[in-house]
Amino acid sequence: TPIDPVLADPLPRRRTVGVNVGGVLVGGPAPVVVQSMTNTDTADVDSTVAQVAQLARAGSEIVRITVDRPESAAAVPRIRERLDRLGLSVPLVGDFHYIGHKLLADYPDCAAALAKYRINPGNVGFKDKKDRQFVDIIEMAIRHDKPVRIGVNWGSLDQELLTRLMDENSALAQPLSARAVMRESIIQSALHSAALAEETGLAREKIILSAKVSNVQDLIAVYRDLSRRTDHAIHLGLTEAGMGSKGIVASSAAMGILLQEGIGDTIRVSLTPEPGGDRTKEVQVAQELLQTMGFRQFIPIVAACPGCGRTTSTLFQELAETIQNDIRRNMPEWRERYPGVEALSVAVMGCIVNGPGESKHADIGISLPGTAEVPSAPVYMDGVKVATLRGAGIAQEFHEMVLAYIER
Ligand code: SF4
Repeated sequence: TPIDPVLADPLPRRRTVGVNVGGVLVGGPAPVVVQSMTNTDTADVDSTVAQVAQLARAGSEIVRITVDRPESAAAVPRIRERLDRLGLSVPLVGDFHYIGHKLLADYPDCAAALAKYRINPGNVGFKDKKDRQFVDIIEMAIRHDKPVRIGVNWGSLDQELLTRLMDENSALAQPLSARAVMRESIIQSALHSAALAEETGLAREKIILSAKVSNVQDLIAVYRDLSRRTDHAIHLGLTEAGMGSKGIVASSAAMGILLQEGIGDTIRVSLTPEPGGDRTKEVQVAQELLQTMGFRQFIPIVAACPGCGRTTSTLFQELAETIQNDIRRNMPEWRERYPGVEALSVAVMGCIVNGPGESKHADIGISLPGTAEVPSAPVYMDGVKVATLRGAGIAQEFHEMVLAYIER
């Protein structure tokens, strides 16, 4: 039976209305954008500048910062200025809740310095005076010519909307499940807010929507439905994904399926860092998700086998790690010096069982000696065997060959 190409390939990206976020296009024809968020106190200018710089250098194309009180709002223009002085043009997004309308009005320099405002309709929503607060923020966005992200989160869902939908549902002859009503409330909150923003005068190309939940199946269902019902640009993210491998697996499972279906214009992987842990992990995971799925290329990929009883030493793990670390360390410079280097693939394999095959698929690859049965290490470049390495210097020699290959 021939393979159906439709089943084998991702679905075409769903075309949305592109939004310019401080020079970075989100949606429309743009590739999926990687973004992240700081966890510093925004009022602490030094720490926030340092973390934004760290995230931007790791590859975050947009960085969101909390703007929760007057001190934070006052700090934003200084943060922007300091980043500009460092030569970092990464757009800053202000994360507003509750009093965003006041902060934007009282601190016009903050409103001007930000590239986008994130509003949560759950706390600046549809209720009487809150309606006014929402409209105030939208009017501010219009005045400063900024886009907004209407970011619904089930942890702060508009309770009045949810209650109304629950009541309407219970009056149905065949009511939906409570979970289905919750999903519908999230979607309606996003769509109603977008409609209200447009009625207020904000252009469609200034609106991005997100609808985050922390359950993988709910997230997939909500975003599938949302993307069917709007052509607004879509920000994907599994909220409260969690720590360590759990957060990475859950985010990748949920967003991987949606991306495969052509849904999502920008992603954030929300990982809970270890205390004092590196915040850039979420950028790395987002990039790796997009790259391993074939949507974007950020950094050369090192393929390595898991090893098995045929590997009698840790040589291949050490070599794979050395090359991976080398790549990470050198990428900022390599990107400038060797355009296209991010597309490079390297294979470091434990033995000749799968080594030559995998190495031929990579740009450059090696099969290290497994058990003593084959004490040599064939090296392949562009699918052709170019050398056979032997002896104690195999790792060092291959390492040098990789660097020379990149240079060439
Ligand atoms: Fe084991 Fe060789 Fe396969 Fe690696 S390539 S997992 S060492 S059989």
